[in-house]
Amino acid sequence: MDQNQRPITDWLPITKKEVEKRGWSDLDVIIISGDAYVDHPAFGTAVIGRIIEDEGFKVGIIPQPNWRDDLRDFKKFGEPKYFFGVTSGCMDSMINHYTAGKRIRSEDAYTPGGLSGFRPDYATTVYTKILKELYPEVPVVIGGIEASLRRVTHYDYWSDQLMPSILESSGADLLVYGMGDQPLRDLLRLLSKGVPFDNLRTLNQTAFIVDENETIPKNKRWETVELNSHEDCLEDKIKYASNFKRVEVESNKWNADRILQKIGGKTLVINPPYKTMSEKEIDASFDLPYTRLPHPKYKKRGDIPAYEMIKFSINMHRGCFGGCSFCTISAHQGKFIASRSTKSIMKEVDEVVEHPEFKGYISDLGGPSANMYQMKGKDESICAKCSAPSCIHPVVCNNLDTNHTPLTEIYKKVDKHPGVKKAFVGSGIRYDLLVEDYNKNDNEDNNKEEYMEELVKNHISGRLKVAPEHTSENTL
Ligand code: SF4
Repeated sequence: MDQNQRPITDWLPITKKEVEKRGWSDLDVIIISGDAYVDHPAFGTAVIGRIIEDEGFKVGIIPQPNWRDDLRDFKKFGEPKYFFGVTSGCMDSMINHYTAGKRIRSEDAYTPGGLSGFRPDYATTVYTKILKELYPEVPVVIGGIEASLRRVTHYDYWSDQLMPSILESSGADLLVYGMGDQPLRDLLRLLSKGVPFDNLRTLNQTAFIVDENETIPKNKRWETVELNSHEDCLEDKIKYASNFKRVEVESNKWNADRILQKIGGKTLVINPPYKTMSEKEIDASFDLPYTRLPHPKYKKRGDIPAYEMIKFSINMHRGCFGGCSFCTISAHQGKFIASRSTKSIMKEVDEVVEHPEFKGYISDLGGPSANMYQMKGKDESICAKCSAPSCIHPVVCNNLDTNHTPLTEIYKKVDKHPGVKKAFVGSGIRYDLLVEDYNKNDNEDNNKEEYMEELVKNHISGRLKVAPEHTSENTL
């Protein structure tokens, strides 16, 4: 069904009128986002909004509010009952705005017409400060890439300095890091049971700041590690580097520690992440009732480039165990792979085929690295004690099951779909997993050769994309 035939209530509301059309007079949660609202599982704001809706809460979105006028966008829904959720969007706002040469980008892929200038620099901080000014009593929860990767003392390339946790610079009450599905669902369930916001101190995958002398509630299952303080990092680069390494290790452990860091007279507390999502949990996230379309309000404002790129592609898993030094996936999604079921993937293929503009070509059957689908430790009790940042470097771990058969089967299944002429694999392939000399695991039944043959014969357009996208030893 195209945009024109659908009722507006198929999208989450972004105006007061749309809130009323749903029969609501007020909202439980309001999301402020630096991106335009595209109701598709590849867009974080839609995923978070749909999860909140799925938990039975009334949610509205304020996409790309004007932060330079009288702030009417921020006021249009009034106060939410529980909290404001703030994100800069799918990218860090500084990466969105500037090239590596620090020049202003001419295009913003997450704005209609590709226009730039619709979000501020350091958007999460700017939005949060505005909300704290307008509604000082309402909690603000920050999340998304910008909040997640700035959760602890970090180097800010654009200002060429170390910055403290974004919780400190923004004044937000709680930070959700990584993929927000699990922490958000638990957060909402506790709030609906009447737990006060200030008591949410033992939720996995969240961070907050307390006064130095305040007692921090404990979870008996967690060990605690204290990093070098923010002030020590400012004095000594080695101390900062050692913090960075520790955070990276804790982001990729089966049983991670709780992290503490002193900032001035306060303490930053980062609770350990959730265990990797089960198939049922990740399916539930992808199977939410997305329209898979941008909100109709953008119809006359031009295409949204990121949506045009992604609209006929399917993400089959999350996480990457490559451990490349330059990449942030491990700090955000972790190294353990969460894979969707074949049923959930095929259901999405059915939905893509129904898209009014679909001409038979799926642009990507992929994931963070295309060929890690369903891969995990053969004996997961060994993985539970492992803190290696990569499962394939410097050698492929002999406990890693690198069987490519489940993925090959899905490619073949999609090929047989009557609505699909061709399905490409546009995500990068980890080719080292396919090289016999390098990967000596599991090839008694030649599943790697079978995979390569299926891939090269039926799923590339002439060029095979590879991961990692770098050739420098040091950078890797
Ligand atoms: S034991 Fe091997 S497969 Fe398991 S997490 Fe460690 S490196 Fe990865």
